[in-house]
Amino acid sequence: MNNKTEKKAIIIGAGIAGIAAALRLKKQGFEVTVFESAATFGGKIKEYCWQNFRFDTGPSLFTLPHLVDELFELFDKNPRKYFTYSQLPLVTKYFYTDDLVIESFSDAKKFAIEAETKTKVKAKTVLRFLEMQKKTYNLLAPIFLENPIHIFSRLLKWKNVPALIHVSNPRFLFSLHRVNQRFFKNDYLVKLFNRYGTYNGSNPYKMPSLFNIISHLEHNVGAYLPENGIFTIPKSLYQLAQEQGINFRFDSFVDEIIVENNSAKGIKSCGESYFADVVLSNMDANFTYQKLLKTKKPPKIYLENEKSTSALIFHWAIKGNFEQLDVHNILFAADYKAEFEHLFGKKITFSDPTIYIYVSSKTVPTDAPSGYENWFVMINMPNLSSTQNQENLIENTKNIILKKINKFLKTDIEKHIIHENITTPIDLQNTTHSYLGSLYGGSSNSILSAFFRHPNFSKIENLYFCGGTVHPGGGIPLCLLSAKIATDLVKQKTP
Ligand SMILES: Cc1cc2nc3c(=O)[nH]c(=O)nc-3n(C[C@H](O)[C@H](O)[C@H](O)COP(=O)(O)OP(=O)(O)OC[C@H]3O[C@@H](n4cnc5c(N)ncnc54)[C@H](O)[C@@H]3O)c2cc1C
Repeated sequence: MNNKTEKKAIIIGAGIAGIAAALRLKKQGFEVTVFESAATFGGKIKEYCWQNFRFDTGPSLFTLPHLVDELFELFDKNPRKYFTYSQLPLVTKYFYTDDLVIESFSDAKKFAIEAETKTKVKAKTVLRFLEMQKKTYNLLAPIFLENPIHIFSRLLKWKNVPALIHVSNPRFLFSLHRVNQRFFKNDYLVKLFNRYGTYNGSNPYKMPSLFNIISHLEHNVGAYLPENGIFTIPKSLYQLAQEQGINFRFDSFVDEIIVENNSAKGIKSCGESYFADVVLSNMDANFTYQKLLKTKKPPKIYLENEKSTSALIFHWAIKGNFEQLDVHNILFAADYKAEFEHLFGKKITFSDPTIYIYVSSKTVPTDAPSGYENWFVMINMPNLSSTQNQENLIENTKNIILKKINKFLKTDIEKHIIHENITTPIDLQNTTHSYLGSLYGGSSNSILSAFFRHPNFSKIENLYFCGGTVHPGGGIPLCLLSAKIATDLVKQKTP
């Protein structure tokens, strides 16, 4: 008898991490079933279509594509047969309140020259900064991002000593903003580099400067866009999963994880019990405990951390072409610090929010008809721990956004909007079961926040976790790494 086929795994959630974990467990010989409450796969990475327009609904910025490729390679498949992507020559166009525009090119040298031309900060200073981030990333990523950091024996190894010495530099105790301020002494560049704090929904005036490594990913490694938009990523992985015989049960909310003698034995969904050797939750960690493990004592230390920001998103079908925009665009707040004090301190929507506009049709022509564009317009919002008055909030905020876009782009944008679809923080909580509507689970607003994310294993035997709310964190690349770490732990049957 083939032992391999006897092992069963159940995965709760078909988000990007859930699909990746399903593939990895399949490769280990498990019979895998994924239970997904929604009608389809992808979780936060979905698409919204209206007439001949297509919009990505969640992520828009894609780095470290090799982490997707390696899932195809695991099954000796050529990833390019499933999805293709290209590097964006221009990552983001930054618009400032005084009409200055900085183009943040993927190519580090080109970006550094642009920064010098626009801000007078020497190109070599910008390049030195990016080199510092590269060194930090290369030393720390294998230990803190690709490793289960909650198993201390994995951290305290001789080979990790250079990285641990590097990270003990007091500069990492300071905030991203403080280090950027001291380094660049230029408000334009400080704002630009501070914005990386929002890549995991955090506050750059609080999050440790270690997170400057994100700039290395964009400028030294590159930002990418799949040929048919971000949704192609889960779509192609789902195709691979189907080819490999992984079972998907959609419209199947999991109500309970069955635990006997402190060991996960299976799940209950739609009135039926399903048993397995391993249960892996891709569901938000807070909701996993609140809804599926009601009788178990939750590990408060991992669940009570401050959550990341939420978002208000408008999908606008736009008549006309706005040449001044590129794929990714930022219209900055005049007072960036005040924006974060509102989002995290006062927990209210800021009256002059930074606006992000993503126009995939700039490089994916099929995303909008000729003469039109598909705008994804997003602002950061406080997560739903906010007690702000919700009455008229969306309408009032939309008016602020419209006015601001008109001012920055010198237009009357309302006249160009021919269709609108809105996603609020409450929608995000309801549709993807994201606790408090947060985009990335816990924020990274403190030096120890990485250790306060839920580990990829649990105190309940045979119950594992993957996804943006657990180690190593939110965003496509880290979710893919979480699936890798969790399934490696399954393989090693540790801790
Ligand atoms: C607006 C927005 C913008 C973003 N921008 C970026 C970006 O530019 N770049 C980037 O890398 N990342 C970005 N992110 C973050 C990124 O989308 C997430 O970190 C990532 O997609 C989370 O994936 P996940 O695997 O954790 O699961 P999720 O996508 O959260 O999916 C979890 C799945 O589990 C299902 N589920 C939950 N509970 C149950 C249950 N009880 N039973 C069955 N199924 C259940 C849900 O329906 C869902 O499908 C963004 C997110 C949002 C929302």
